[in-house]
Amino acid sequence: MQLGLQAYDEIVGEEPLITSGPQYDMVQRATGRLVEAAKRMGPEFTQRFEWEVRLIDNPDVVNAFCLPGGKMAVYTGILPVAQTETGLAVVMGHEIAHATERHGTERMSRAQLEELVVQAGVTAAGGDELHAEAARGALQLAVNLPFSRRDELEADQVGLLYMAAAGYDPREAERFWGRMSALSGGGGSSLEAFLSTHPTDQDRIAQIRELLPEAMRLYEASEAVGNP
Ligand SMILES: [Zn+2]
Repeated sequence: MQLGLQAYDEIVGEEPLITSGPQYDMVQRATGRLVEAAKRMGPEFTQRFEWEVRLIDNPDVVNAFCLPGGKMAVYTGILPVAQTETGLAVVMGHEIAHATERHGTERMSRAQLEELVVQAGVTAAGGDELHAEAARGALQLAVNLPFSRRDELEADQVGLLYMAAAGYDPREAERFWGRMSALSGGGGSSLEAFLSTHPTDQDRIAQIRELLPEAMRLYEASEAVGNP
């Protein structure tokens, strides 16, 4: 969690942020509702997360993440793929699920974690620019490290239930992942990075379909249904 909090400052610290307007409001509202669902349904330790989301003004980056500890970022490049607040809830429900299911720490080996701590420590102690650069690189790598296939399916599953409980129509999930996969091959390196960690395959779609009845029950029971 500590590493996640530090990584957040390293990664978003120098990015241009959007701090008002309709896109900003949408991102705040969607993640706010998802976080409330995650706190109700997720493991107890998520109560201690320091939840926060920032909207990064970079239309070339098709990405979004939630670090261990609850710090989230949405790049404006993913908004055209999300299309709507419900589409955004698909991807952020999935990303939040990675954090609440502790995937971020499981996927890093102990050696990788130690390396990050050493480098982050050097930076915190006022290390030179070269060290700071190395630390940023290592933390970026930590964010872009692929999750295992099992983790991906679990994040889909848990994320689908979060979005439904937050009052977002879970039928959008299959459509969203379909749009993501349709972009393959045309979106530059950042998109390739996201797609390589989030392949849309038949297992993924089959699992979403299988879970849909349960998700629809949560959605229909949600007090937030009828909100945007
Ligand atoms: Zn994922």
